[in-house]
Amino acid sequence: MHIAKKLLIVTIGKLKLTNSLTRKKELFEPINSPKVGMYVCGPTVYSNVHLGNLRTFISFDIINRYLKFLGYKVRYVRNITDVGHLLDNGEDKISKKARIDKLEPMEIVQKFTNDFHNVMKTFNVLPPDIEPSATGHLLEQIEMIETLLSRGFAYQANGSVYFDLIKYNKLHPYGKLSGRKMADLINQSRTLEGQDDKKNPLDFALWKKAAPNHIMKWKTKWSYGFPGWHLECSVMSTKYLGKQFDIHGGGLDLKFPHHDCEIAQCLGSLDKEPAKYWMHTNMLTVNGQKMSKSLGNSFLPWQLIYGNHKLLDRGYSPMAIRFFMLQSHYASTLDFSNEALNGSLKGYTKLANGIRILKEMIYPKHDALNVNAALINQISKICDDCHNAMNDDFNTALTIGHLFNLLKKVNSFYSKQLSLTDINQATFNRMKTTLLTFTEEILGIKPEKNINGHNLLKFLLEDYAKAKATKNYKKVDLLRQLLAEEGITINDMKDFIGWAYNE
Ligand code: AMP
Ligand code: ZN
Repeated sequence: MHIAKKLLIVTIGKLKLTNSLTRKKELFEPINSPKVGMYVCGPTVYSNVHLGNLRTFISFDIINRYLKFLGYKVRYVRNITDVGHLLDNGEDKISKKARIDKLEPMEIVQKFTNDFHNVMKTFNVLPPDIEPSATGHLLEQIEMIETLLSRGFAYQANGSVYFDLIKYNKLHPYGKLSGRKMADLINQSRTLEGQDDKKNPLDFALWKKAAPNHIMKWKTKWSYGFPGWHLECSVMSTKYLGKQFDIHGGGLDLKFPHHDCEIAQCLGSLDKEPAKYWMHTNMLTVNGQKMSKSLGNSFLPWQLIYGNHKLLDRGYSPMAIRFFMLQSHYASTLDFSNEALNGSLKGYTKLANGIRILKEMIYPKHDALNVNAALINQISKICDDCHNAMNDDFNTALTIGHLFNLLKKVNSFYSKQLSLTDINQATFNRMKTTLLTFTEEILGIKPEKNINGHNLLKFLLEDYAKAKATKNYKKVDLLRQLLAEEGITINDMKDFIGWAYNE
């Protein structure tokens, strides 16, 4: 199995990816092939993940899936940020939500981690191999701070510990990932306020002394406080993947300062560039503007499934939404609209129908004497095209185009415009395997019962909500059971009724 898979890497050509660090498309050569270490910044679990977040996690799911398909032994680490991600006013995002909802911070963390996992499962995103959390790695974070202090890259000030960027920048240029220059950053930072403890306004917190009313805090020799957000990723990536690993990923908005700070922390404490390749996914936008919770233009995945939003005229199935996301390259922006989704739905329906037909298609028994060599070559070339498109920086948009070219052949065989006896069994098998493997295993588009949105489901859920509101528990139980038989679990959320497919 392992040898066969290794051969796959060799036989189907070379994978290239765009390295944000060098800004070039480079040949992918793992540090310790066939092992591949990949770290992706996960969600901050203080609210439901929105469609923008989902786009990023689907993009890295494709990368994980394709690397595994090629035969690499991937260790995929994606963290859960459950402390330290601050709002502009300095308040911890999770603490704030806990304060407002009058819940324990860990209740907030649990609730939104569960939601995140539900969404990932619904959209067929494979789980990472390790999913570490920041609060689970406090000792390691404290250790890294101590190393940075002892090496002179950090200093204490009034119970907090900061990274000394001026000192660091003398040895290593800070900002090389984002292309920012220290001198420009210093000029811009003069306007920032509330930086009293720092030697330099640009310095970032490794450990922050907590205000008396701050909920999430731990005792260290510096103060009762909490770790800085950038620190967790440096600590957890290198703990599980080594001082230097292959791929570090995240959304483009994390390039600066988060990822530039990660590089500084790793070089400062471990003398190594953490990742050989940095990969950044571009943003999902609405009318050209980044989808984000704070801008108030974010959609929840569930809203799309139910068609429960003023911009939508219908619901879309999870795989139709996944297909929509994959119709653009991960490094391009993708603008979200009802029209764009409707367009994708047409394509997706075609694909799903083609796959259904193909699964039932059997190569006929016959004496394969008069095969059509040109047709065989055409099919073979399209199969190669699919591999080449994925090898070209995981170009899912192009891959889908080639899959549709293969589907045209399938439909011609189905409608008897072409005869399966025109091709040999090996070509038929390759066509079938390529279409099924690329659609289901690599792009992760799995068969669905209802691809035209969930209108019936929506109706049943509304009925369920009504039964709950009127305390008709007999009906509630009945609807729950009915949906369970259809492979769907209901999740009672605070403001709406959520659901997920059963495994
Ligand atoms: P957060 O929970 O805000 O830390 O975000 C989790 C991941 O989603 C990060 O990798 C972000 O870069 C990414 N992300 C946030 N907003 C968007 C968006 N509109 N489009 C694509 N990715 C996003
Ligand atoms: Zn991170």
